[in-house]
Amino acid sequence: MPDGKPLSAPQKALLKLGLSRDVDLALHLPLRYEDETRIVTLREARAGEPAQVEGTVTACEIGYRPRRQLVVVLDDGTDTCQLRFFSFYPSHQKAMAVGTRLRARGELRGGLFGWQMVHPVVRPATGALPSALTPVYPTVAALPQAYLRKAIESALVRADLSDTLPPGLAAGLGLDARWGLREAIEFLHHPGTGTSLAMLEDRSHPAWQRLKAEELLAQQLSQLASKRERDALRAPALVPLSGGLRDQLLAALPFGLTGAQQRVGEEIARDLAREHPMHRLLQGDVGSGKTVVAALAAAVCIDAGWQCALMAPTEILAEQHFRKLIGWLEPLLAPRGLSVAWLTGSQKKKERTAMLAQVASGQAALVVGTHAVIQEQVQFSRLGLAIIDEQHRFGVAQRLALRGKIHEPGLEPHLLMMSATPIPRTLAMSYYADLDVSTLDELPPGRTPVLTRVVAESRREEVIERIRAQLAQGRQVYWVCPLIEESEALDLSNATATHQQLSEALPGVRVGLLHSRMPQADKRAVMDGFERGETGVLVSTTVIEVGVDVPNASLMVIEHAERFGLSQLHQLRGRVGRGAAASACVLLYAAGEGGRLGDTAKARLKAMAETHDGFEIARRDLEIRGPGEFLGARQSGAPLLRFADLEQDRPLLERVRAAAPGVLDQHPELARRHVARWLGGKSEYLKA
Ligand code: ADP
Ligand code: MG
Repeated sequence: MPDGKPLSAPQKALLKLGLSRDVDLALHLPLRYEDETRIVTLREARAGEPAQVEGTVTACEIGYRPRRQLVVVLDDGTDTCQLRFFSFYPSHQKAMAVGTRLRARGELRGGLFGWQMVHPVVRPATGALPSALTPVYPTVAALPQAYLRKAIESALVRADLSDTLPPGLAAGLGLDARWGLREAIEFLHHPGTGTSLAMLEDRSHPAWQRLKAEELLAQQLSQLASKRERDALRAPALVPLSGGLRDQLLAALPFGLTGAQQRVGEEIARDLAREHPMHRLLQGDVGSGKTVVAALAAAVCIDAGWQCALMAPTEILAEQHFRKLIGWLEPLLAPRGLSVAWLTGSQKKKERTAMLAQVASGQAALVVGTHAVIQEQVQFSRLGLAIIDEQHRFGVAQRLALRGKIHEPGLEPHLLMMSATPIPRTLAMSYYADLDVSTLDELPPGRTPVLTRVVAESRREEVIERIRAQLAQGRQVYWVCPLIEESEALDLSNATATHQQLSEALPGVRVGLLHSRMPQADKRAVMDGFERGETGVLVSTTVIEVGVDVPNASLMVIEHAERFGLSQLHQLRGRVGRGAAASACVLLYAAGEGGRLGDTAKARLKAMAETHDGFEIARRDLEIRGPGEFLGARQSGAPLLRFADLEQDRPLLERVRAAAPGVLDQHPELARRHVARWLGGKSEYLKA
């Protein structure tokens, strides 16, 4: 920080949410609104509806049935209502002492004992009622709603919200010209009482339309600008030699390519042969065989006399993902005096120095590793192709750094990004103006479908019984525990407890434990034990998310499946069904408070049980989450699109797409300001 003062927790949370500039706060729009403008009397209230009541506290006591809770009775003169709090502090009791006048807002429930509200929002009944709807902002625990509201209020006053759309464009895009940016933003923060909540909710209101169009324009301009930049760059033309490494690799493979692999391989080869840097996303479902395609691309690159870098987000993934690839290529490289270099964070200094020397001399034709590959000390001799697996888990800076590893000015390496989270093709095409997309839409033959069951946590014993049956048949089992991001310690204790439980329940069986905090060597030992079949059950946190390949594993149990994202569940399930045996996936879920599973969690589990197709899963994910989050680099920042919905707003996207080149050509300064305002530091996302 400039003034050296440590940041408060809410300030830190603001930064973490990407809300650093006034304009970021201004663009942080409410998730929903609450109507605090009215008070209803209990006599005229209706059960099951959200309501705000005002009255005097006539009782405030701690009860113990069915469990410890604070029970406050509010009398509004027409009737009484019980307010129940299951978590509370002494300060709450004080604030709701007998005789206090309160406003309580929540869902009213009727019943045998009269009106009730569970965990209502309570405040002292002072001051006039607000005249506008109260915004409720998306936030995190460390950032209280009230703090965020104040921060947004003051940012709204200061923020520069002057128009950056060229004259006439708003009308050209079919927008209602009465809603300028400032008008739209102010309205959405504080809609007047007469506003249709439905139009706000489904985002059809003209104020929403304006913001969506602006957001889409920023995205399209940014993509277009980087596309033009790249078009001006050159890359080494990588042309395969006849009878060279690529042909040798094809001959050595223990299987023939699928039709999809052939097609995609040719798409990539065509790009590599050009003097323009490739910028291609290879997407394919888990198990679709992306590694071979990557190996073929690497072979072309090496054949042409250039180096190929392979990068995965973690050490274990790098190893698991590329082990096969290296196994295929290394024997072909050795006779040519070429080697494979590993670069990882946990490497010993001496080994690392040796590797760096191989990379610098060009002897290492293939350089494999984690982020360590892009560190400053790493000097490539001739980097021709960079392949990034699980590209969405890398930040932009990292992807850019990789591209910067080529030393001849004006020259860039080719870039191949791989993802197992397929984006529906049409979506990808209209969204990624600056990315070519290849899709493996066919699985290699011989896969067995995985039967998926959604099972309540209370039936854990039955699941363990099922594990016994699988083990008795000589099969192996994965048991995955969720990674609890907020608390690594909790995550660990969870996995440890499960490991212990299973060890006790399965005497004579080796149960392995794998978690993110283990030293690399221990992780490897556990993985090896499982791969060799010595370990019957592998309990792990999500480190096995991708990468493990044990065809003998026939059962995957995912504990607290409700806490996983859909694509993550799908990837995990992809670990079984790789052999000939019938395989199953059990999604264990624990219902939350009130014995109910949240709607989105329910939708996710249902989707998993109903389909196996990665694209269908992706489509459902899109429906459940909205594309902003779906496409967004979740690990590395805010979602790319917050307001527009690529499916629903397709017509608007098409109009914006058509308009973008003209804006960039005729109003470069406005375009620059527009992108900076909307994407700020994040605009680089779209570049890399
Ligand atoms: P992913 O796309 O998930 O990275 P992999 O590249 O790891 O998939 O491939 C999954 C498995 O399928 C690997 O064991 C791989 O060797 C095998 N495989 C890939 N292509 C074929 C093919 N054409 N025929 C048979 N097996 C294949
Ligand atoms: Mg892979």
